Amino acid sequence: MSIKEEALNCIRIRGAETNNLKSVDIDIPRNQLVVITGVSGSGKSSLAFDTIFSEGRRQFIEGQSVYTRRFLNQLPRAAVESIDGLQPTLAIDQQSGHDNPRSTVGTITEIHDYLRVLMARCGEVHCYQCGQPIQQQTVDQIRDRLMELPERTKLMVMSPLVRGRKGSHAAAFQKIRDERLVRVRVDGEIHDIEQAPELAPNQSHDIEAVTDRIIIREGIESRLVESLELATRLGDGLVTISSLPKGDSDWQDKTYSTKYACPACEIDYEEVEPRTFSFNSPHGACSKCTGLGTIEGFDRSRVLDLSKSLADGAIQCWSDVNADERKARLAQLEPCLTSIEFDLNTPLAKLDNSKLLQLWNGSSEYPVGIDLMMQKDLATATDKDRLKRLESFRGNVSCPACNGSRLCEQANSVLLQGHSISQISAMPIKDAVGFFQGVTFTDYRQTIAEPLLAELSNRLSYLETVGVGYLGLSRSGRTLSGGEHQRVRLATAIGAGLTCVCFVLDEPSIGLHQRDNQRLIDAVIRLRDSGNTVIVVEHDEEIMRVADHLIDVGPAAGKHGGQIVAEGSPEEVMKNPESPTGKFLIGAEKISRSQSVREPGEAWLRLKGARGNNLKNVDLEIPLGLFTCVTGVSGSGKSTLLNKTLVPALRKRLGLLPGETESYQTLEGADNVERLIQVDQRPFGRTSRGCAATYTGVFEELRKIYAKTKEAKQMGFTASRFSFNAKSGHCSECQGHGQRKVKMSFLPDIFVECSVCEGKRFNEQTLQVRFRGMTIADVLTLSIDQAIREFENIEKVRVVLQCLVDVGLGYLSLGQPSSTLSGGEAQRIKLATELAKPTLGHTVYIMDEPTTGLHFQDIRRLLGVISQLVDKGNTVIVIEHNLDVIKCADWIVDVGPEGGSAGGTIVATGPPTAIANAANSHTGRFLNDYL
Ligand code: ADP
Ligand code: ADP
Ligand code: ZN
Ligand code: ZN
Repeated sequence: MSIKEEALNCIRIRGAETNNLKSVDIDIPRNQLVVITGVSGSGKSSLAFDTIFSEGRRQFIEGQSVYTRRFLNQLPRAAVESIDGLQPTLAIDQQSGHDNPRSTVGTITEIHDYLRVLMARCGEVHCYQCGQPIQQQTVDQIRDRLMELPERTKLMVMSPLVRGRKGSHAAAFQKIRDERLVRVRVDGEIHDIEQAPELAPNQSHDIEAVTDRIIIREGIESRLVESLELATRLGDGLVTISSLPKGDSDWQDKTYSTKYACPACEIDYEEVEPRTFSFNSPHGACSKCTGLGTIEGFDRSRVLDLSKSLADGAIQCWSDVNADERKARLAQLEPCLTSIEFDLNTPLAKLDNSKLLQLWNGSSEYPVGIDLMMQKDLATATDKDRLKRLESFRGNVSCPACNGSRLCEQANSVLLQGHSISQISAMPIKDAVGFFQGVTFTDYRQTIAEPLLAELSNRLSYLETVGVGYLGLSRSGRTLSGGEHQRVRLATAIGAGLTCVCFVLDEPSIGLHQRDNQRLIDAVIRLRDSGNTVIVVEHDEEIMRVADHLIDVGPAAGKHGGQIVAEGSPEEVMKNPESPTGKFLIGAEKISRSQSVREPGEAWLRLKGARGNNLKNVDLEIPLGLFTCVTGVSGSGKSTLLNKTLVPALRKRLGLLPGETESYQTLEGADNVERLIQVDQRPFGRTSRGCAATYTGVFEELRKIYAKTKEAKQMGFTASRFSFNAKSGHCSECQGHGQRKVKMSFLPDIFVECSVCEGKRFNEQTLQVRFRGMTIADVLTLSIDQAIREFENIEKVRVVLQCLVDVGLGYLSLGQPSSTLSGGEAQRIKLATELAKPTLGHTVYIMDEPTTGLHFQDIRRLLGVISQLVDKGNTVIVIEHNLDVIKCADWIVDVGPEGGSAGGTIVATGPPTAIANAANSHTGRFLNDYL
């Protein structure tokens, strides 16, 4: 560190011009909690991520190996004059690394790695067949076993030196020579040691030293013991015996261990190692699912309609099978049905879960269950349509071999105080904390366990601190919401004990109930107090108030923003008359409830008996034609109830493919619903070619306009020429993506601008066509606010753009790649697209935290849009934590009371005033202050 930097106790930014920033000069204090706020699109992320983080990463890579540095000049350079005093910078955002099917809460937090060591060193191996604890086998016991072999059996006694490891293994060969042994088996072939083959170092090999060759007969015992002793000494407790009974021609191998074996089942166990518990290693992974925990198969939730009986068509994929055939098939299920004491005429919903599982999987005695019948059905189907239909009932289902635990039998047979690693990983984190507190040993293992247990307890408690104590370690990273994922990574960062790092966080409060906000704040403060700079992009009022330094970016969005409107302590910002955020903080401006509260009418949507995840047979009732908020602490069951149960149930009623569905009994009142629109935060479009213009359909209209220009007609260009997907029109280097993916050795992939078209996406000929002086690429760089002025006269375009403005996206450029949009932005683009369609009422809109990324001012606008929808006779249902939104709802359904198993019920329903007075409702408690 240079003297200058050492003297600098701030991150000094000069002339930042990334995206919309207007030559921003700012000194950000180091080792403090810095909150950056401002309306959506004002430039917060441009400052925090595209400038500070991006430059921090560059400076970090500059200090790396030559290999990594190769990418340096390909990295996007932040448009900034200078940044001094920057520390190594880490971004904890909502997206990155979210889609790896092999990551779990345990692996993301590295807790699984500590747990693996603990299990390997302190766990007790149990036989997976009989459940007995495994005892060691002595050389004498092995001898006795071998002497039971038929007379004249040939034996080769070998010590395994290398088992499936890469390398040329010169040391192993040397060891054999040193022992004056003459034979070696290499990858299954016997060689004279002096003629052993050269090994390819990048392949896996097995090497065994042959310590003796013996033929079984009386009197051989003492020699056998000597060879076994030598073999186990060289082989670190292991000996492999290859045997050939007289008259046979095939040698058979068996490995014995002086360390672990089940005397009853005669199963020898290899010594467990940490890698035995890794599902990302071939030594630990379940061999059926290769450690993914899921396999491709028939999805029970899609196949079965639990509200029906078998006779009545509960097996939905047989609805197109003729009646006789169906009867015959059901008859095959009879034995299984009898065994669980069930019949064809009772709705499946009456079965408890374990019996339903038996009916699905069959049992060892009555193996024909529904799943097997389906598989037969698939195997015998020949008709193309039939096959396609059957396929639509398939999906990723829990692996039956490992029960979704991802691990091999042996890993699951090791118990720590009676629990396997899979059982421990399935516990909610807050229970696991208690479990580890109770783990003690009376022998040498205590010394080994203590530091591991301390590390585990610490890391687990950080997870509890950030409010995800209801998750289990085995929970797949892919099923976490953006906010959960971010909080898990925040806990990891605290657990890693880093100092002198600059962390950049993106709205960590998303998905968090007001009740847990304080804990999140504590966690962020803890990160700061360990000597780090913490920069948080946030809209949450509480976090703003505890900031050491608050920065208000604005004053408006896009080109009307990009300036620092106010900065300083929260008090200073509040006093600053220029700061829109300050006005809200002192209460000079606020979001008010509309005077007229809408009352529920006759029409209700009633979902009965929902039992997915933690839901406890919940009956959900939603008034149609109103604005309803579903609230509750994180993990209480809101998404399960709405996104995974109500949405698919409604889809099914509307004749759409339901997709993955959690179980429920009935849905009533859906006759009054004509259309369902789910607006979620998932990114749209699979390629980076998607953008607001393509998703909303505006681009299609614009392409038609371009095709109508004189130039286009002269050159014979049609509308399709102006698509990024058209070979004739797009840049052939990047195929219309405008950017190229650069794989970094260990950092996440980075996208860089295409050097041929400079990000314009089209080839030169296409760019010769101009409309009002702009090429099609120029149009894509327009912000929506600008575009609406340019294309005012084109009705179809204007209507859609206006809807985008209404949801607060006026600042967004038409062509910004979908991969760079935040979840909130993607959701609002979808919402605007739906708004632009003519509405006839009777539509149900379902949204998941639409306030993500929104500032007070934007929220006011969003509430206006929702109100308009409801006034036209539609129903709007949102999952929301923002109390300003909740207080404006007509109706509230509060789920809880807690997360995980302590949740999953409906705590209170009614208008906001009723919730505020409800005992037991965490939401009510906080709502009181807002009414
Ligand atoms: P905020 O984080 O305050 O919501 P951003 O910093 O994301 O705002 O955006 C500020 C402005 O820069 C907006 O007008 C936005 O459209 C533009 N912008 C952001 N990212 C990009 C990008 N990758 N390409 C082009 N424009 C962008
Ligand atoms: P909310 O939306 O209220 O935050 P969720 O519906 O996401 O709550 O979760 C409710 C409960 O179900 C939690 O205990 C959560 O851990 C569990 N859960 C949710 N999704 C899954 C999943 N894909 N696999 C296992 N458990 C899940
Ligand atoms: Zn498996
Ligand atoms: Zn290109």
